[in-house]
Amino acid sequence: MRPATAAARAMGKHVEKVHGVVPPIFPSVSYERHSDGTYPGGHSYSRDQNPSFDQVEAVLAELDGGADALVFASGMAAATTIFEVLPAGTHVVAPQHMYWTIRLWMERLCNAGRITLDFIDQTDTDLLKSRLHGNANEIVWLETPSNPLGIITDINACAEIAHAAGATVVADGTLATPVLCKPLELGADIVLHSATKQLNGHTDVLAGALVTAGETDLWQRIRTDRGYRGAVLGPFESWLLLRGMRTLFLRVRASADSALKVAEAMQEEEQVSEVLYPGLPEHPGHGIAASQMNGGFGFVVSIRVRGGARATRRVADSVELFTQATSLGGVESLIEHRAGIEGDTTQVPDDLLRLSIGIEDPRDLIEDLQRALRA
Ligand code: PLP
Repeated sequence: MRPATAAARAMGKHVEKVHGVVPPIFPSVSYERHSDGTYPGGHSYSRDQNPSFDQVEAVLAELDGGADALVFASGMAAATTIFEVLPAGTHVVAPQHMYWTIRLWMERLCNAGRITLDFIDQTDTDLLKSRLHGNANEIVWLETPSNPLGIITDINACAEIAHAAGATVVADGTLATPVLCKPLELGADIVLHSATKQLNGHTDVLAGALVTAGETDLWQRIRTDRGYRGAVLGPFESWLLLRGMRTLFLRVRASADSALKVAEAMQEEEQVSEVLYPGLPEHPGHGIAASQMNGGFGFVVSIRVRGGARATRRVADSVELFTQATSLGGVESLIEHRAGIEGDTTQVPDDLLRLSIGIEDPRDLIEDLQRALRA
């Protein structure tokens, strides 16, 4: 099976007895045990194992080309579980610009003395090399494209430097999805997805996932920790995520095509001072994005609006088709004044609007933005 087929068929597994075309939901928390102590269904208790999320995990591992996958109650639950199992004092090198809440979380851990932390411009690979201490416990955290600035990091180059220094590479692949980019094939050790976004795609499930290249000691600690803390995905959410992923390839391709059209149209707008989208040839990361992404550049386009924060907010208030809301990756397009949401701790310019492009007709999206910008 090729990845698009694996996603569409949800790996093609059925419950043989009833021959359903779609998989069932398994709400049972507990599973029958034989008198000899074995579990005939292979499951005992759903804080760490449930047939509903077993199947989602099988699809995710397949899509990312990984050895194993684990789903979590949210992307943040997945990310924080990694930090939970790191030895005290682990050195983390993370991008200067990255998803805000994970950055805040890392800072909290650093302030509490649990990790040491360097935020750097990871497009400068010499800088990355110079910041690694060369001990086996280090983590290099990547996010590409980054949210919301669309910065592209060369996964392959960073992974080579990290591995030469004995470090482990975790790549947040949320804005690309495995349809467009497979970080494990480019050398990352673990991929993080906020499955809340395009993997599910319908803005109705909060979910996270980790996929590993191999069965390492770190991976076993992550799996054990999830079982202890129960940060798992519920059976209903797992089922919805599985259903969402069956149309993943269609949605990802449609929204990436539209995002490029929107980005190109925004370059023509007088009120727009800059368009941040790695699909544009002018984008500083375009060359690397073109070599490590396949079939598109993702669904997030950010624009900077002339006239400062007030003018920018006015545009967000004036659109009619886009919904002004947080989050991204759904079938419906959203617009957000990111600095306004992130408040004092933001690193995002206050004239920036983040657009999450859905699967509507791109002409309607462009006309909506043009109307708001020209008003
Ligand atoms: N990583 C990225 C790049 C994100 O954009 C988000 C959420 O927006 C997360 C991780 C966290 O995911 P969740 O909201 O599912 O906890």
